[in-house]
Amino acid sequence: MNETSPNPKHRFNFLEAAERLGNRPFFLAVQRSLALSLPLVMIGALALLLRDFPLQGGLDQSFGPGWRLICDNLIAGSFGIASLAVLCAFSSSMTLLANQRNPLIMVSPVMTTIVALSCFFIVCAPAETNSWPTFFSMDRGLVTALAVATSATLLYLRLCRVATLRLSLGAVGHDPVVSDVLTVLPAGMVTILVFALIRLLISSAGGADLYDQVRSLLAAPFRESWDHPGMGLVYTGLSQLSWFFGVHGPNILFSVEENILMPAGAANAAALAAGTPPVHIFTKAFFDAFTRMGGSGCTLCLILAILIRGRNDGNRKLCLFALLPALFNVNEPLLFGIPLVLNPVYLFPFLLVPLIQTATAYLATVLDLLPRTIATTSWTTPALLSGYIATGSLAGACMQLVNLAIGTALYFPFVRICDRLRWERGKRVLGVLAHAAESHAVGPNGRKCLDQPGESGRIAKLLAKDLEVALYRDDQLFLVYQPQIDAANNRVCGVEALLRWRHPVFGFIPPPLIIALAEDTAGIGWLGRFILREACVQRIAWRGLVAEDVVISVNVTPRQILEPGFDLDVTAILQEVGMPPQLLELEITESTMLEPDAAALAMLRRLRLSGVRVAIDDFGMGHTSLRYLREFPVDTVKIDRSLTLVVDREVNDPIVRSIVKLNRTLGFNTVVEGIENQEQLEHFLHMGCHMFQGYVFCRPVSGEDCLHYIRRHNGGQGSPASPSVGAATHHA
Ligand code: C2E
Ligand code: MG
Ligand code: MG
Repeated sequence: MNETSPNPKHRFNFLEAAERLGNRPFFLAVQRSLALSLPLVMIGALALLLRDFPLQGGLDQSFGPGWRLICDNLIAGSFGIASLAVLCAFSSSMTLLANQRNPLIMVSPVMTTIVALSCFFIVCAPAETNSWPTFFSMDRGLVTALAVATSATLLYLRLCRVATLRLSLGAVGHDPVVSDVLTVLPAGMVTILVFALIRLLISSAGGADLYDQVRSLLAAPFRESWDHPGMGLVYTGLSQLSWFFGVHGPNILFSVEENILMPAGAANAAALAAGTPPVHIFTKAFFDAFTRMGGSGCTLCLILAILIRGRNDGNRKLCLFALLPALFNVNEPLLFGIPLVLNPVYLFPFLLVPLIQTATAYLATVLDLLPRTIATTSWTTPALLSGYIATGSLAGACMQLVNLAIGTALYFPFVRICDRLRWERGKRVLGVLAHAAESHAVGPNGRKCLDQPGESGRIAKLLAKDLEVALYRDDQLFLVYQPQIDAANNRVCGVEALLRWRHPVFGFIPPPLIIALAEDTAGIGWLGRFILREACVQRIAWRGLVAEDVVISVNVTPRQILEPGFDLDVTAILQEVGMPPQLLELEITESTMLEPDAAALAMLRRLRLSGVRVAIDDFGMGHTSLRYLREFPVDTVKIDRSLTLVVDREVNDPIVRSIVKLNRTLGFNTVVEGIENQEQLEHFLHMGCHMFQGYVFCRPVSGEDCLHYIRRHNGGQGSPASPSVGAATHHA
């Protein structure tokens, strides 16, 4: 274990607690609402960056003053309304999550958003209309928007479920939406009335602006004993804590900046001009340079930590996006994207990193290792340069480097915790999807995975998109090969090609899920041809190295076979690769087989006449087993793994015996799948089976390893394919 990671017991508890919190609908809805506002945040960040960029003269010369207006309009239309966007996104996300938990009472997310918007405007309506925009903007309005969105949404959703507040009017008007809306009308009205009451209470208490009150309250501790290390830490801590709740820290503490930090900086500059040593340690330039690299909370450290140690490709990509604005100290893309706001896992380092950085820079100044700041820099000045300008010394840049290194190292263990939590959540959803992929149930649009509700459906759609991309790349989708052993002759008689997808975020995706996603998106034709070509290319590459009777088996789905022209595709690939049809066996899964279709049967017969072999896979657990054997042109029957399990032998053994007997009568080969140990092997040998596929011989392995395996067992020396030497070198 890495020395920076917390001890396992505590990590386990912390993980559990953080995960439980993070999975609560409220936190999920907050994270989603921030992520949904990312397009606004990104465009706002870039416009802000451009507007406050140091080289403005050059831009004025090239584009005229019009570029400033464009930037201002972009900022007004993005950052300027980000709070409203978060409010709407939160209300609808929270409703969707509540609908998933309680599907009996579905509430329209649009309706919740409308109610929450109304509550927000009632609570925030200012006396002067020209101050509306302050409530919509991100820096000032976000916390109010989140507070109103949360309370209004939760109250409304709760009231929607109160039976006495639901109007059961039946069909009203021509559109069912009218009836839905009228049903929850009382809940909406009561919610809005409650907020009108809250507004009345605020007004009768003097109509004070809460934001301004909090501002003056937070500024109170800073009136005395400035330059005391405790004060610097309190300023940094409060600023960070505000950010954690979605309030722009430095803005809410602006009076400290205005009344203390800026005058202190000016006094230092004046002292320098007068030839006397500057006295103040804590200035605006001090905090900008040493605790706000990449924006408040030194988020550049988190970006570096994720880029260096992060395993989650999605987060790494986000960091690459956020890196450019962060280099100029705009941190919103990261705050909203990860997100850091209300994220319990990152709370600790988010507070700790700038506190430690404040302490180290303070200590370095007291020990005369770092000069006091003497100049102000534009807030967009990149790290290292800002340290140099602020102190007029290279020591300033060195201090920034040290603080960056400390902050990045402090973030490392938390990046790993976050990756692990995300991975575990992803795995759980993958499990649900894999289950859906293997079942026969389909959604309203005939799709197994894409129609899944909630998180599963969302991840299925993401995966389906990624699968399309993976098909064009050569580093994610590949085949592995598992030998089939003929124990009667002690040799490898065939090899099954099995698909693998190494997803950049979720790791290996279960093959049935890959196939279901491809079928859901009508991409199975493409994927099927890819698999067939890869398998044939591999078999041809072994030509001359393994015996001519080693057949390669390729799984095909019923939907592939039902596609007109499937046989032509197979023949074309065989010709393209130059492979004799006798070396190919197509495995069709019986349990998923549709009703034997005349056209599909004719096509399979044509293929079989051309020499291609046909196998029925997972035989014995489907619904129409015997009928398949009669109707299908078959060479091999593979007995389902569930029939080979040691448990339930009294039931399974008679079934297996009768399948073996039947196959013998009809002249089919029988392959027993899923043989994992010697005892199972001996049991099935005893029952008269002699062709096997299973971990006891070899796991699915790369083409190269499979070739070694075949040559070791068949390669002319006649050595037996003994299970004891058959362990795979690598499990794919
Ligand atoms: P299948 O065609 O019945 O493949 C055999 C599965 O059993 C493989 O799982 C293999 O790794 C696993 N297996 C083999 N020996 C043992 C054993 O001793 N113990 C256990 N527990 N498992 C064993 P895999 O690769 O995960 O594939 C699962 C299913 O996904 C396949 O079942 C097949 O239906 C589908 N699939 C895999 N690759 C492809 C493909 O290229 N095309 C299509 N259409 N389907 C595929
Ligand atoms: Mg198979
Ligand atoms: Mg099988």
